[in-house]
Amino acid sequence: MDPFRTLRGFRDILSPETDILSYIENTAKEIFKLYAYNEIRIPSVEMTELFVKSTGDTTDIVEKEMYSFNDAGKRNISLRPEGTPGVARAFVQHKLNLSGKNSKFFYIGNMFRAERPQAGRFREFEHIGIEYLGNPSASADAETIILLMALLKKTGVKDYFAEINSLGCGDCREKYKKELLEYLKNNASRLCEWCQNRIEKNPLRALDCKIDGSKLSIEAPKLKLCEDCSLHFEKVKELLKIAEIDFKINKSLVRGLDYYTRTVFEVKSSALGSQNAIAAGGRYDKLIKSMGGQDTPAVGWALGADRLAMLIKDNISLKSNAPDIFVICADKSSFTESFKILNNLRNNGISADFSNFELSLRSQMRSADKSGATIALIMGEEELKNSSCSIKFLKHAEDDKGKQEQIPLNELLEKTKNILNTENRIND
Ligand SMILES: [Zn+2]
Ligand SMILES: [Zn+2]
Repeated sequence: MDPFRTLRGFRDILSPETDILSYIENTAKEIFKLYAYNEIRIPSVEMTELFVKSTGDTTDIVEKEMYSFNDAGKRNISLRPEGTPGVARAFVQHKLNLSGKNSKFFYIGNMFRAERPQAGRFREFEHIGIEYLGNPSASADAETIILLMALLKKTGVKDYFAEINSLGCGDCREKYKKELLEYLKNNASRLCEWCQNRIEKNPLRALDCKIDGSKLSIEAPKLKLCEDCSLHFEKVKELLKIAEIDFKINKSLVRGLDYYTRTVFEVKSSALGSQNAIAAGGRYDKLIKSMGGQDTPAVGWALGADRLAMLIKDNISLKSNAPDIFVICADKSSFTESFKILNNLRNNGISADFSNFELSLRSQMRSADKSGATIALIMGEEELKNSSCSIKFLKHAEDDKGKQEQIPLNELLEKTKNILNTENRIND
């Protein structure tokens, strides 16, 4: 039989890539704590209707990229393509606006999009995101952006920059939509087929089109903000400057999702090319109400953890996963004692590994060398008789490499701890 393989567009992630992802997640959690965000875990599967209503039925995500299917109860359900709809649903479902706590959430989880597989893009990928609900003020927009930039800085990524824009409120947008629609109709012959079919329903989407978006955003009429929206945007910019955040205004930044109002932003890296943001987000003041909740302003973003991992993998050095000690059993009579030593080390906080105590000494030594451990502890007939254990240095400074000495078993923990402290200092 042919061996099983991953589905097209899916992948296994192995160490060291998994270590880099864990590093990013842990760094993010440290920053979330500084900014007082609480973790929320939402289901991977929701009613398809949730995404249609929130992400938007004319978005690429919902129209082309959703993993939707009918379950045994004939309900149409979908794997989540992004986190915000689920968090918004949870907020409404559990009436979190009445909890008295701040409504600042972070999530870390896998998302699914049935995109055409291409280099560096997968159908299952990780998002790290935040949602700040209940604060209409520009300080909330600014906080989420400042947090994002602090997180990225802490991960050690280089050459990234923030772009921001304001899409205005419903009022500014209605006016603009009419103006834009007229322009698009007059220029319909220059639009791609996709855009021609949907401009009536959502003319803004054309600006975000991968085919005609970039030329349209230069030539088409620009959105004019109403006074309130303009003040809000000015305040966001002022607060970002106070926080010493570098950003650019990008008037053609529209974001591909329906729920955004006012501030939208993206963080890009020159290393990823123009289409690829590391993180993106914005304000979505109308979403919670449109999902049956109370009128609740909100702002948030999501970061592509896999993309960030790709960017930092060459410029960070993570602590190695190698065990400190490799335990070797030199003959069958020492099997039990060797196994006890192994457990004892681990119970005392020392990382230790072994291969197979029944294999030859040579073979176990080979595994010890490959393991990256600092020292090997060897138990054999003679050691057993003396109630001692042999220590072999595996990666000591050249002249001492291979040096072997015996230590009594009752001093083993103390001695190995001392040795590891010294050795780790030498090798760092
Ligand atoms: Zn407005
Ligand atoms: Zn188009």
